Amino acid sequence: MGFLSWMISLLIIAFLIYSGASFHWIVLVILVILLLTYGSKRARLQRIVNRLAPGAGIRVKIQKIEGINGINAFAMLDEHGNKLIIVTPEAVNELDKDELYFVLAHETAHHLKDHLVVKAVTESIKAIVDTAAGILGILGGGIWGGAINYVLSKIFSRIFTNKTIYINQEKEADVEAIRLLKKANLPVCGAYKFFNHRIKEGFWESLIALFIDEHPLASQRWENLVLHYPDLILCTGKSRR
Ligand SMILES: [Zn+2]
Repeated sequence: MGFLSWMISLLIIAFLIYSGASFHWIVLVILVILLLTYGSKRARLQRIVNRLAPGAGIRVKIQKIEGINGINAFAMLDEHGNKLIIVTPEAVNELDKDELYFVLAHETAHHLKDHLVVKAVTESIKAIVDTAAGILGILGGGIWGGAINYVLSKIFSRIFTNKTIYINQEKEADVEAIRLLKKANLPVCGAYKFFNHRIKEGFWESLIALFIDEHPLASQRWENLVLHYPDLILCTGKSRR
């Protein structure tokens, strides 16, 4: 329940008390509000995350993100540095229950594994290295300088590029997600449904991913998961070899 709904609820209760409504009515209205809060989509997602990572203080928000359409979720820190998971309304509405479990577990894993910190540090190192390569290039001067700059930034971006870090983080978060789900006694086959949908529907997405290489392909991620958890193959309906 958002801030506005809380304010409206408070106003309704205040009005009831002010207008001298009977105690029964006030209790009933409070119960209905609590029930709505408990049953809200956000509250449902929050309960899943609390179950996956008790005491980790990770909050969940359902929110449209500017410029990003469709099914998506992010692990991020809010302006106060608190751990936050943002899930798009499309993800909440279109993914089935098991898939949502997996997506929430995956984002929870990013937080528990401190991936955001690693990413921030890596990005700073990369910025410093880029600058250093630029300065060396200028010092080198002319064609040689250009060549030095080019080679250095190529070498460093290979080492520090988002690609390597990002792909490894995604795979690590997938594996940790399954561990969290198993520990919380939640279904794990959402991972298969989620990746299988992507494998089937994601031809263009895969093609794009090959070029911008941000997200490892869904099929790669699924294969990586089965490597760590061979029993996941049961989710496909095929028996284990
Ligand atoms: Zn991720």
